[in-house]
Amino acid sequence: MRSVRFKVSAIFVSIVSVMIILLWLFQIVFLDDFYKVIKTNSVRSCASSIASNIDNKELNTLVYEIAQRNFVNVRVVKHTKNGFESVSISESTRSLEYCLADELLDKYYNDALNNDGTNLINIDNQDSFKFGNTDNINSEKTSEDLQNAFIGQTPSDSIPKAKGIVFCRVEKFNNEEYLILITSVISPVNSTIQTLSVQLLIITLIFLIFGTFIAFLTSQTISLPIENINDKAKMLAKGNFKVRFTEKGFREIEELSSTLNFAAEELGKADSLQNELIANVSHDLRTPLTMISGYAEMMRDIPGENTTENIQVIVDEANRLSRLVTDLLDISKMQASVSELEYEQFNITKELTEIVQSYASLSKQRGITVNLEYDQEVLADADKTKIKQVIYNLINNAVNYIGEDKTVLVKQTTKEKTVRIEIIDHGIGISKEDIANIWNRYYRVDKNHRTAIVGTGLGLSIVKSVLELHKTEYGVESELGKGSNFYFEIERVHNDHTESGEGTVEE
Ligand code: ADP
Repeated sequence: MRSVRFKVSAIFVSIVSVMIILLWLFQIVFLDDFYKVIKTNSVRSCASSIASNIDNKELNTLVYEIAQRNFVNVRVVKHTKNGFESVSISESTRSLEYCLADELLDKYYNDALNNDGTNLINIDNQDSFKFGNTDNINSEKTSEDLQNAFIGQTPSDSIPKAKGIVFCRVEKFNNEEYLILITSVISPVNSTIQTLSVQLLIITLIFLIFGTFIAFLTSQTISLPIENINDKAKMLAKGNFKVRFTEKGFREIEELSSTLNFAAEELGKADSLQNELIANVSHDLRTPLTMISGYAEMMRDIPGENTTENIQVIVDEANRLSRLVTDLLDISKMQASVSELEYEQFNITKELTEIVQSYASLSKQRGITVNLEYDQEVLADADKTKIKQVIYNLINNAVNYIGEDKTVLVKQTTKEKTVRIEIIDHGIGISKEDIANIWNRYYRVDKNHRTAIVGTGLGLSIVKSVLELHKTEYGVESELGKGSNFYFEIERVHNDHTESGEGTVEE
């Protein structure tokens, strides 16, 4: 797998190469063709301009202007019975002027007439311009002639000879025929090509240097934060939850950083909660175990201590142990998602009544009352065992954190599609900061007085898992010092045939 750095650099280098290749192609390779097309078009428009002014008195001036401006040679002749009569001539360049010679006019005229009135002749090599009877042309000496005449060293002949065109147009006006001839060099000036080549070479070098530099910088900016994040993630994997991801630069990296920060924080929290749990569990296990073994030893060793009260202490402590172990098992089952819901239809009101009645003994022992209030009997569709566990957990909490009124109210309200169950106490309540956390595993608001109140810190976490499996609404409204209202809703069966009517149950 290639690295980001390599890929980014490769893309950059490719872009730069394509740009350079395009520049070379257009500036050097296709320059001739472009130049030829542009020049040919310009020559044609010059011819049109002359043609439309053929009767103008100032034709000479126009021809002169056109020749000068466009660097072409122009000749206009009139076709008469006796041959050709010169009208206007203007030469701005000496090259190709021999193509305007009198001897050629007849051929030009005939060829143009045979070809819709215009004709374009390409001259590839001026020096070997053989066209019709050109032997008698009083042309300029060709460069070869000059070279031959010159005694001494001449520049090498490697530079290609200029190419040209002769454009002929026959224009009829007032029953008279005019022949317009324009010659133009159609290969770019050699010095221009040389200049362009040198410039291109410099541009290519600059591009390559800058391109490499920018490719390096870009890949560095992209890959460096990724590499850093990777290093830190490795530390995180090794268990260093304090590591923080500060990498920035672009949105994706920032998002990745903040996700990993969140993960690190959560892992850190889980880790410290786990440590706390071990401390809690070992403490919670040790206390009842010490009590059990203490009481058992006492009953063994001291005659007369084998009383029902002492045995009750052992039974209570053993129950507390088993509750703790059950909670731990439940939570681990939920976590492993092995527990699936077993939906059934059941009379939730009857279940609530039974649960509330099971707290009757509390009334005798601690003077605590658990009341039930319901609007009508309803059938619910849910996992009965798990929902009962939720209700028990919530009532146990309400009892554990009960207020001075020593009353817990269990309220059932029927809604359109659901039935809402509330467990209300007027106890210590929960602060806003703690409300968000109480549903977390092992979280206990008052960590210092654990032994004072029976609990494992797992009850609400089990409640949350069950209700989330049911995909239902749940929550708590609580105010510090005033009490709490834990509520949840479960789906209700609509066409239930249960008796209607309000009721209250007091255990
Ligand atoms: P615990 O076994 O400690 O009760 P839970 O998960 O059931 O654990 O509850 C978590 C924490 O939420 C408790 O330690 C307690 O601080 C707070 N809490 C739960 N129910 C109530 C309540 N009815 N009133 C006040 N605080 C409560």
